[in-house]
Amino acid sequence: MRSKIVAGNWKMNKNMEETEALLTTLAAKLPDTDAEVMVAPTYVSLANAVRVLQSSTIQVIAQNMHFAETGAYTGEVSADMLLNIDVDTVIIGHSERRAYFGETDEILAKKVTTALEKNMRVMFCFGEELEDRKSGNHFTVVENQLKNALFDVDASKWKNIILAYEPVWAIGTGETASPEQAQEMHAFIRKTITEAYDVAIANNVSILYGGSVKPGNAKEIFSKPDVDGGLIGGASLVADDFTAIIKAI
Ligand code: PGA
Repeated sequence: MRSKIVAGNWKMNKNMEETEALLTTLAAKLPDTDAEVMVAPTYVSLANAVRVLQSSTIQVIAQNMHFAETGAYTGEVSADMLLNIDVDTVIIGHSERRAYFGETDEILAKKVTTALEKNMRVMFCFGEELEDRKSGNHFTVVENQLKNALFDVDASKWKNIILAYEPVWAIGTGETASPEQAQEMHAFIRKTITEAYDVAIANNVSILYGGSVKPGNAKEIFSKPDVDGGLIGGASLVADDFTAIIKAI
């Protein structure tokens, strides 16, 4: 059985005090849920976030990491450094990393390999741009993103993969994929994984939807059979909104 997950991607928002304040509020307001709840603050606040959430079920995850073990990579953070502060899940491939920091499928494949070798969980993000959808290429684009970064992964490692389908045109734009569009793509993703691996792996992987999920649309999106939760940006920065989204699952 795959798990339901609601994750907040805080991006480059909140300093350490603000992070601590929001986490404390979230921990106090956390609704009863059987979903996994995760938050991804910035690197500088991660260790403190883990400490603040010590007695909470909310998991602290990282927004990114480098693929190299250690060494001369100025400005980067390794898998071991994350594990050292008890962060064992990392977002890889967010569209902002792809668009603004030049992260190609090839780089992402290396990051995925390193994280999985370290027994970390990977939340792998992917999704088409507006032009791809307009031209009807969205399925091909998504299939290639998965193939290029994930399909060399050994079947035994898939238990540590979480997928987050995030159509780029819906991220931070206020425009959401309709629940039907999300379901259609998530079903396609499962079919693609079935073809590359097998139906058990496809059925066991959690596939989150991301892109302008808000309290007002979460329930309908989460009600779709192949949508196992959400990766939430803007709305995860507001305690009441994030809590409402957790309740919706
Ligand atoms: P958004 O961001 O919810 O603000 O659209 C989602 C994401 O980038 O993960």
